[in-house]
Amino acid sequence: MAKKTVIIGAGYTGLAAASMLAARGRDVTVVEKNNDPGGRGRGWNTKGFMFDMGPSWYLMPEVFESFFAKLGKKREDYYKLSRLPTYYQVFFGDGTRVQITDNLEQTRQVFESLEPGGAAKLDRYLAAAKYKYDTAIGEFLYRDYGSVFDFFNKKLVVEGLKLDVFTSLDKFVQREFSDVRARQLLEYAMVFLGSSPSNAPALYSLMSHVDLNLGVWFPEGGMVSIVLGMEKLARELGVRIEYNAPVVKILTKNGKAIGVETPKGRFDADEVLVTADYAHAELDLLSEPDRSYSRRYWEKATVAPGMLLAYLGTKKKVPGLEHHNLYFSANWNRHFDTIFKKPSWPADPCFYASVISKTESTVAPADGENIFLLVPTAPGLDDTDEAREALFDVAAGKLESLIGASIRDDLVVKRLFSHRDFSQDYNAWQGTALGLSHTLAQTAVLRPARRSKKVAGLWYAGQYTHPGVGVPMTLIAAELAVGAITVGD
Ligand SMILES: Cc1cc2nc3c(=O)[nH]c(=O)nc-3n(C[C@H](O)[C@H](O)[C@H](O)COP(=O)(O)OP(=O)(O)OC[C@H]3O[C@@H](n4cnc5c(N)ncnc54)[C@H](O)[C@@H]3O)c2cc1C
Repeated sequence: MAKKTVIIGAGYTGLAAASMLAARGRDVTVVEKNNDPGGRGRGWNTKGFMFDMGPSWYLMPEVFESFFAKLGKKREDYYKLSRLPTYYQVFFGDGTRVQITDNLEQTRQVFESLEPGGAAKLDRYLAAAKYKYDTAIGEFLYRDYGSVFDFFNKKLVVEGLKLDVFTSLDKFVQREFSDVRARQLLEYAMVFLGSSPSNAPALYSLMSHVDLNLGVWFPEGGMVSIVLGMEKLARELGVRIEYNAPVVKILTKNGKAIGVETPKGRFDADEVLVTADYAHAELDLLSEPDRSYSRRYWEKATVAPGMLLAYLGTKKKVPGLEHHNLYFSANWNRHFDTIFKKPSWPADPCFYASVISKTESTVAPADGENIFLLVPTAPGLDDTDEAREALFDVAAGKLESLIGASIRDDLVVKRLFSHRDFSQDYNAWQGTALGLSHTLAQTAVLRPARRSKKVAGLWYAGQYTHPGVGVPMTLIAAELAVGAITVGD
């Protein structure tokens, strides 16, 4: 008899783990509270628009290729992919703007134009970033750490110094680059990790290798095509998926996980893999003796930012924008402080706007534009209608002034999505968009454990566990969890 596994959540982690477990002979059922797959990466269709609700940057393509290849499949049989010719456009606080393209020589010239010797500095920086990335992929990301001692082995201590684990990214970049815009180009990706440049280890300068060298890609049909491809693959491998099935309790008996309870009924299992928000599973679905972490642990954790998102459909083409656009105010630390130091709604926010209709014609009517606006915010804010509308107006107004064209006057779709929605739709702790920050104290073995400390057969994977936040990381988290679950098979 095949062992039965119940997976809670049909986001990237749940779908990836489901396929891998089914391929290893498990009888897998995924139970998902919402009525569609993808979790934070769902698609939303309305009035001829298709909005990717969460992730929009397809980075680290090799991780996706490896996921399909390890299952004996080809990624291109599930979705098509191409590299964006213009990776992104950046508007700086001083009114200047640059475009980062797939031509590295052009990127070097951008850095040279920002400060004397900038191109040579970038060469050195990227060589170090590549070394960190290769070491991370080869040594750390796909490794399962059994204990703190396992992690802090001699190799890591030696490599850790070379990898700049013990200094902040901000300090590291400042040593080399003096122009604030050059620094911002090398540091912005920390928001992807739910961190700020001053609280993220400089190890994460590897992210510059990820975007500038490995490139920014996009799947045909939008990011949701990945989700639909992964759902299809899971079903081909025999996985059952129950939508509209919110788990209300993880069932345990004599210290062992035996299934889950949902309003649709009970699903028995030999093992349960949680890919829903870790804090929710622990605090809402388990009784106190079965929890690995106390409420206080979550209260003291550095929770990753919340986000104000706006899904906007226009009835006209909007000039001046690329597929990915970033705005960095001159003193972005003021914004970071409102996220990590003094939680409050930002007055002069940095933001990100993606316009996937610039690349993909199917996601908006022919004469319209599909705009996704994202402003990072502190988790746990009092998310009132007034507060979110006010922040939206500041950010959208700034975007209009940067491109010299109106957007708000030409909307046929406008949906704001913030803390309340993250909590309601995904059971997110404090309405966080990204789970736990990547501070040093929340990296690798120091992230919440993959194996329950209290309940046999209860496992966790996703953006809360090692290696962490981001779609490629969740595919790796799924692989690590599956490896650990099936170790004795
Ligand atoms: C706005 C936004 C933009 C992002 N941009 C990028 C990007 O550009 N590139 C990138 O790589 N990453 C990006 N990320 C991060 C990335 O989306 C996440 O790290 C990843 O999607 C997390 O996947 P997951 O499966 O671990 O969790 P989730 O997607 O949260 O999936 C968990 C699932 O569990 C379900 N669930 C919760 N509670 C229960 C319950 N009680 N019972 C049943 N089901 C339950 C939820 O509904 C959800 O479907 C972004 C995230 C957000 C929010």
